[in-house]
Amino acid sequence: MDSAPLDGNVAAGILASIFYPEMTVAATHCAHCGTVRPLGELDAYVHAPGVILRCSSCDAVVLRVMQNRNRVWLDLRGMSVLQMDIPDEGSP
Ligand SMILES: [Zn+2]
Repeated sequence: MDSAPLDGNVAAGILASIFYPEMTVAATHCAHCGTVRPLGELDAYVHAPGVILRCSSCDAVVLRVMQNRNRVWLDLRGMSVLQMDIPDEGSP
């Protein structure tokens, strides 16, 4: 790596355009080492126009997302499970 990682919260904006729920609190399961942690706690490397999120335990790539003006590419191969809460539509 050529620079220190940011945290996974930097991917919130681009992921919000794909997924409805707040993604930074979604539980990610690393496919390589099995560590479970919120997406916002992964190590983020920003390579415009995309973001790479790496496991903070084993450094494996967990998620890659890239976006241009009208298309998004999402690679979740490094994640065995992505667990998200479903918003309660009955609450204010
Ligand atoms: Zn890992």
